[in-house]
Amino acid sequence: MAYDVIIGLEIHAELKTKSKMFCACNNESEGLAPNTCVCPVCLGHPGTLPVPNKRALDLVLLAGLALNCRINELSKFDRKNYFYPDLTKGYQISQYDLPLAYEGWLEVDGEAVKITRIHIEEDTGKSSHPEGTDYTLLDFNRAGTPLLEMVTEPVLRDAATAKKFCQNFQRLLRYLDISDADMEKGQMRCEANISLQVPGTWHYDGAGHILPLADKSLNAKVEVKNINSFRAVEKAINFEIKRQSEALDKGETIIQETRGWNDNSNETVSQRIKESSADYRYFPEPDIPPLRIGADWLAAVKSELIELPEAKKRRFLSEYGLDEKLADTLTADKALADWTEAAISELQAWAETTGLDWKENGAKLVKLAGNWITSELLKHLNQDKLAISASRVTPENLAELVTLIFENKIGSTAGQKILETMHREGSTPTHLMDELGLAQVEDPNILLQAIKSVIAKYPQQAEECRNGKTPLLQFFVGQVMALTKGAANPQTVMQALKEELGINS
Ligand code: ZN
Ligand code: MN
Repeated sequence: MAYDVIIGLEIHAELKTKSKMFCACNNESEGLAPNTCVCPVCLGHPGTLPVPNKRALDLVLLAGLALNCRINELSKFDRKNYFYPDLTKGYQISQYDLPLAYEGWLEVDGEAVKITRIHIEEDTGKSSHPEGTDYTLLDFNRAGTPLLEMVTEPVLRDAATAKKFCQNFQRLLRYLDISDADMEKGQMRCEANISLQVPGTWHYDGAGHILPLADKSLNAKVEVKNINSFRAVEKAINFEIKRQSEALDKGETIIQETRGWNDNSNETVSQRIKESSADYRYFPEPDIPPLRIGADWLAAVKSELIELPEAKKRRFLSEYGLDEKLADTLTADKALADWTEAAISELQAWAETTGLDWKENGAKLVKLAGNWITSELLKHLNQDKLAISASRVTPENLAELVTLIFENKIGSTAGQKILETMHREGSTPTHLMDELGLAQVEDPNILLQAIKSVIAKYPQQAEECRNGKTPLLQFFVGQVMALTKGAANPQTVMQALKEELGINS
């Protein structure tokens, strides 16, 4: 039967701070030898005292403001007690009933997906189980890394939207430089809560709880962890929907449990029966005084808010007249969006000096630039695994290339050749056009000479052409293009060729 699918997301993201959450240890320990980035505080030695990292708090507050949350004026840390070898203290310092931020939303496909809360906490160490051994290795370099944890309300209904939420969330964290949020590196970890309910048996209280109607009972929810890519978010949720619905159809009971996504076998596997929050015996952290988040503090954080991805995309649509897909690609990354805008302002300046009406031609020029950036420049950068910030092509030079194409000084094949050379060598397009002899042949005499020599070379074909075998015209255009090394404009060649052969079009 068809069930109502109810999905909530929990996302952890490592904050981009210099030091860890409660000690002065380096927070950038990637690639360092295990257990070389530790101190008595993050190793949880008895008698040590944690001191909160102000920058980490700022970053979570910034995320809270960007996600339209309310901020708790009084917030505090709490201990979450559980035993695991990668947690030497026996508890994690987190936040329970007074998170930094609450009641927010993030836009996905034009709709607001509600966020329950955003809190701050510390990360644990990392354990690994080398294959073929019976022991576990522990690395505490990551212990004490500041984490942001965001929880959505259970308002998502399908896997594709959940995946988009995660993508938009990552984009926002990166725009604000809160986190690098690379899922493959574990800098951003998504977990999904999924339950299936019979229609008409439940209602949502609007505050994070799915409740049964009257005498009805609900099916348990399952939490899925170990999801390390956006693709896996979608696949894991769809797998659970199928698994749970098949079990329910057979009359089985869904167990409330934590399952892990296995990327190789494409399935979720039971890990443990889920704890309830009572099992964690939360209580206020006695070693850290409560936080009072006053107006001054918030104002300072607010000053860091910049134009966010969705707003930027909307502006690209309205201000530049770009289509949805181009605007989406160009604003996916803040550095790329800034780079693109730098190129656009170069185009504007060029239009101004040449007296070109921007109102009339601006959208055409911007679209041309957008297409050359997304289809050609990004292609080369991706092939070489380079970020836009490392590109040898400058916005000025890209704009110059676009004007050459716009003015028909070069064709698109020549443009591609020039851009590729710009990408490799960083030279300017006009210089390359001359050096590589790629300028479109505009001199009618040069063109006529080329046409005459080709006709002289193939007299028989020319005769057939005159007698009506016009498909042969393409052959002659190709020959002229080859002779001029692609520098001729094919349409002009066709025109001149017909005149020379005396064919009326
Ligand atoms: Zn430390
Ligand atoms: Mn957590």
